[in-house]
Amino acid sequence: MPTTPAEQYLLDQIQQGDDRAWSQFIQRYNGRLLAYARRQVSQPADAEDIVQEVFINFIRTMHTLRPESSIEGFLFTILRRKIIDTYRRKSAMRVGLIQDLYRSNCGQSDYLSGFQSTESTASSYARRDEQKETLSAALAGEILSLLGRIKTTLNFEHLKTIELLFYCQLSNSDIAETLKIDARKVGVLKHRWIKQIHDNLTAADTKDLSEADMEGLLVQIWQQYRPSCPKRSTIGAFLLKTLEPEWQNYVDFHLNVLGCHFCQANYQDLLEQNQQKGADKLQQRIMQSTVGFLQKQ
Ligand SMILES: [Zn+2]
Repeated sequence: MPTTPAEQYLLDQIQQGDDRAWSQFIQRYNGRLLAYARRQVSQPADAEDIVQEVFINFIRTMHTLRPESSIEGFLFTILRRKIIDTYRRKSAMRVGLIQDLYRSNCGQSDYLSGFQSTESTASSYARRDEQKETLSAALAGEILSLLGRIKTTLNFEHLKTIELLFYCQLSNSDIAETLKIDARKVGVLKHRWIKQIHDNLTAADTKDLSEADMEGLLVQIWQQYRPSCPKRSTIGAFLLKTLEPEWQNYVDFHLNVLGCHFCQANYQDLLEQNQQKGADKLQQRIMQSTVGFLQKQ
């Protein structure tokens, strides 16, 4: 999700050295990053240290954040890299719990190594990178519009299949087993989805891309943008059980069957915020109902 004008304003304030804006920023993202880190490293103190380092790294690299990328995605990328570098945790490469169940070729995409190489790219690669960026943006746009259509028609079986294919990189037969559908149906859907996106791309140099190239690109886009992950507000509504039944079922799948680590971190953070709110409300109620007695003493 691209940076909103409000977020951009906050970033500008931070860049000008505004303490309050920085504190607001930390408050906004701290919980979900910590919830993610706690799932990946065993010591709670280590998780806190690592999140602190993420914020330091963010200050240093925030000038490279593009308006079309999401702040949350940027922060999670720094966090994942830190966990992998420091703890050699391969599990941080995996996006969801289901990948621990099926070990086909999950998490083998070169997204993170790609991220590292982008940082050290020599200028001779700059042009190629630029072309890649343009292609990524075009693909991401196509994917988002197709996903939008799936969501408005509530075709969640389709959406679940797509997520298991491109986000989790499960094999057709593992997907068929998970969703209790025919493996051939998965194959047909994959082929159709790739063709549809390919046909809609207009740039001349994309016409030579094979189906395998397209699949690799889609996997990279999913790793980079997580285009199908429910919004934080949707996860909040799921928590409060206020979603339509079809949506409730889909978010449950994304969180608990696919087991998306990022969305689970958001869920955990929202849950803790909610509990805190409940505790604050109770405290307020007790205060209001008892303060009169205090004054009468
Ligand atoms: Zn997710």
